[in-house]
Parts: sequence; C-alpha cells; structure tokens
Amino acid sequence: MAKVAIVTGAGRGIGKGIALKLASALDMNIVVVDIDEGTANEAVGEIKALGKNAIAVKCDVSKAADVDAMVSKAFELGEVEVLVNNAGITRDSMLLKMAESDWDLVMSINMKSLFLITKAVCARWVDMAKKLQEQSGQETQPAAFYPKRYVVNISSIVAKGGNMGQANYVSAKAGVLGFTKTVAKEMARYNINVNAIQPGFIKTPMTDKMPEKVIQKFIAAIPLARMGLPEDIANAVKFLSCKESDYITGFSIEVDGGLDM
Ligand code: NAP
Repeated sequence: MAKVAIVTGAGRGIGKGIALKLASALDMNIVVVDIDEGTANEAVGEIKALGKNAIAVKCDVSKAADVDAMVSKAFELGEVEVLVNNAGITRDSMLLKMAESDWDLVMSINMKSLFLITKAVCARWVDMAKKLQEQSGQETQPAAFYPKRYVVNISSIVAKGGNMGQANYVSAKAGVLGFTKTVAKEMARYNINVNAIQPGFIKTPMTDKMPEKVIQKFIAAIPLARMGLPEDIANAVKFLSCKESDYITGFSIEVDGGLDM
C-alpha cells in the first residue's frame, strides 16, 4: 500500500513542488494542505495525473481546530509516513515600523503551526509505537523496532545571518531550527527523524512579488548565479523523507546556491 505524506502550503510554490516530488519519486499519496482550497484542488489534480492518490484539505495551519480535523483526514487516507511543515508567509517591515499584528501573524503561521501539527501527528505515531511495543511483550524496544517516520520543516537561510526588514520572519525561521533539533531528540526513541531545510532565494509566488531590482541584487550575491526552483528544495525534502537519510536527524540542509547570509 502506498504511504501518505502530509505537505502544508502545498497549493503552490515550494510546497506544491514537494508534493509532486514525493508523489512521483517516492510513490506516495499526498494530503495537500492549504488555506486556499482552489490552489489545493489544482495541485491534487496534478498529483492524480501522476497516478497517485491525493486529497485537498482546507486548513489554516495556525488554528488548532483546523489542524486536528486535517490530521484526522490524513490518517484516514492511509499510513502517514511523512510530514512536511512548509506553509509560511512574510509580512516585512523594519522593526520600528513593524505592527504587532504582523509580528503575531508571522509567528503563528510560520512557527506555532509547527507545534500544533507536529504534536498532533507525532502523538498518533507514538500511540502506534506504544501499541507495537505492548504487542511485542517486551518492556522496551530499540528505536529501530518501530516503523520509520519523517518530519521535514522548512526554515530559511535568513535564520543564519538575519535579514533587514524581516525581524518577525527571521525569528520564526530561527525558531523552526530550534524546534527541529529539540523534537528530533524527543522523538528519536520512536524512530521518528526530524530535520529541516533552509532554502535560499527560490522562485515562487512569494518572491515574484519582490521588485525586479531587489531580485537582481539577490541573484548577484548567489555563487551559482540563479534563483533556486521549487524542485531544488523538493529534491532535498525527498532525501530527508526516505531510507537514504535514515541516520540523519536534528539536522538542517542549506539549499541556497552558496548564498552566504
Ligand atoms: P508561497 O508561494 O507564498 O506559498 C505558500 C503557500 O502556503 C501558499 O499556498 C499559501 O496560501 C499557503 N499558506 C499561507 N498561509 C497559510 C496558512 N495559514 N495555512 C495554510 N496554508 C497557508 O511561498 P513559498 O515561496 O512556496 O514558501 C514556502 C515555504 O518556504 C515558506 O515557509 C517560506 O517561508 C519558505 N521559504 C521560501 C523561500 C523563497 O525564496 N521562496 C526562501 C526561504 C524559505 P495562499 O496562496 O492563500 O497565501
């Protein structure tokens, strides 16, 4: 039976690239989670055209009730093996002009969502692991006894060196790295790997809205001299979602064309 991956913010951009990659390269069925039902349905159509199953779930990842309903639907679809926390937004301005509401919104969508979703998904995985352990008749089992599970969190290269006008976004993305390392330590005993990706400057609707002058300035600072594509990120997520990375946890991969922030 094909395994299931939950990908948040998968209606477009990097998330959609990840969803298509996990379906095509890892033979997975996909739960396309997005706040925009229209784009989520379009992504589902593209995944189904690859011969895989997919469902669209409208969900605001920062709302606990939405998240709980989404996670229930995901586990009804099949055996959830992968969770990709990708949904994110920007609300940029310099610190002295930043509205409290923009700080709160970015923190809740880019950071609190990881707490809500990862907790809900890991709680189910841990319950299942405990049942397997009970059935085994042993008091304890090594991590490798349990089925492998993967969480991949999308941070950003700006978490490394900061970025003007993004105090809210950078704080959230740095928080994603701390969350990744901590949850990796807590979940390792259940054979759940938790890793992160730090994308550089990637061509998506999020960056399309930037002025052309700013885009060219960024490209000039990238040693590989081009913007990244959603597929560049999807390839790294694929690696962190399958056997090839089974001994890697609490780690973050920079996928940024050499951009030094
Ligand atoms: P994007 O094109 O804006 O796509 C983000 C998707 O997430 C959209 O479909 C969006 O829906 C959805 N979304 C927004 N708020 C949501 C919510 N509350 N609940 C559920 N879904 C929500 O962005 P992207 O460039 O693909 O970025 C994806 C991730 O990569 C983000 O975490 C971003 O911070 C990170 N990242 C991006 C870059 C880059 O250069 N693009 C660099 C580093 C890190 P709507 O269409 O309705 O807004």
